[in-house]
Amino acid sequence: MPKGKRIVVKVGSSLLANPDLLTPRFGFIQRLLEDISRLRRDGYDVILCSSGAVALGLNLVGEKPDTAGLSDKQAAAACGMPLLLNAYKQVGHEYGFEIAQILLTLGDFEDHRRFLNTKNTVHRLLESGIVPIVNENDTITTEEIKVGDNDRLAAKIAQMIEAQNFIILTGVDGLYDRDPSEVGAKLIEEVADVSDYLQATTGTSTLGTGGMLTKLQAANMAQNAGCTTYIANGEADFPLSSVIRGERKCTKCIAQDQPASGWVTWLSDRLQMAGSLVLTDEAAAQLGKRQPIHRRDVVSLDGDFSRGDVLHIYDSKGAERARGLTDFTSEETRVLIGNPELPADQLLGYRTRAELIRPNNLVLLEDHHIPWEAPESVAAGQP
Ligand code: GLU
Repeated sequence: MPKGKRIVVKVGSSLLANPDLLTPRFGFIQRLLEDISRLRRDGYDVILCSSGAVALGLNLVGEKPDTAGLSDKQAAAACGMPLLLNAYKQVGHEYGFEIAQILLTLGDFEDHRRFLNTKNTVHRLLESGIVPIVNENDTITTEEIKVGDNDRLAAKIAQMIEAQNFIILTGVDGLYDRDPSEVGAKLIEEVADVSDYLQATTGTSTLGTGGMLTKLQAANMAQNAGCTTYIANGEADFPLSSVIRGERKCTKCIAQDQPASGWVTWLSDRLQMAGSLVLTDEAAAQLGKRQPIHRRDVVSLDGDFSRGDVLHIYDSKGAERARGLTDFTSEETRVLIGNPELPADQLLGYRTRAELIRPNNLVLLEDHHIPWEAPESVAAGQP
C-alpha cells in the first residue's frame, strides 16, 4: 500500500462497551489496535474517532443509557474518557504505538482559527507516528451545539486532513435496502450517490447517538470531499484492513472524482446553522445565475446571526437550495427587509450596497447533497 495515505476510523459505542455491564470490550479493542498497527506497517496514517466515553462512564455516575439525561451524560463522558484512553494506551503499547487524545466541539470546525489549530495538531501528531484519538468534548457541549454524533465528527476530520479512506465500524455489515431484520433484506455493497438510500435509514443504536442516517450523512460529506467511505461490521478479525483490501462485504460509498474545494466544503457541510433565509420564488429560480441576494429577494429570515455566519437558504416550499456567508447581522437584515422602501444607507447608518450574500460567498447545494431539515418555522410555512 502506498505511503502517506490517511485513514479515519470511526468506532461506535456498542462495539466498545458491553451493553449490559457497560464495561470496556477489551477483546474488540485488542483486535482494532492490532489491525491499526498492521495498517501503520503498510504505510497508513490512522486517526481514530472513538465513541464510548458516555457508555463507559455511566456506571460511575450511577446511570443507565436509556434514562440518563444531558448532565448525566456529560458527567459520564468525563468519567468514561480516561477509562477509554487508558484502554487504548495500554493496548496500543502492546502493539508498539502511542496514542494522543483530541476532544473537539462543533465550534472547532466552524471557526477558521480553531479549525487550523486542530488540523495542525493532528498533522503534528501524525508526523511523530502517534495515533490521534478524537471524540466530541461532551462535557462542554449541550444538545443543540453537539456535533450530533461521532459519525459526522469523524467525517469532518476526514475532510480536514484530506483522508483518502474513512471507515465507519458498526454492529451491522453496512447499509441494507430495508430494515436488516426483515427477511430478504439485501446489503448494498456500492453506493455512488448516498442520497438515493435515505429511505432505508431509520433507527439508532441504544448506546450511541447515530443511526444509519447519520452514517450516510457522514459518508456524503466524506464522498463530496473526495474520500471513500466504508460502513462495515466491527465484529471481524482485522476489521479495517480486511475492508480496505476488499476481503469482506460492507458498503462502500465511492468518493467523488472531482471533489469540492476546501472552501466549498467548509461552507456547505455545516453541522449547525446560524440562521436561514427563505427566498421569493423568482429569486430561488435565479440562484443558478450567481447573483447577489438582495433584501427584495427575501421573504423571511430565521435565527440570530452575526456578519460572517453561514445561512441556509430555502425556497418557499422549504427545500434547501444554497448556503452562504451573510454580510449583515440578523438585526440588520430584519431592518433591511422590513423597510424595503427606505435606502439601506439611511437604515443602517453607513454606506452599503446592501447585498445580503455576495455571489462569491454562495454555494448552491448540488442534487446529491443531503440537506439538513428545514427549521420548524420554514416547514410550517410561516418563517
Ligand atoms: N461522544 C459520545 C461518547 O463518547 C458518543 C457520540 C456518538 O456515539 O456518536 O460516548
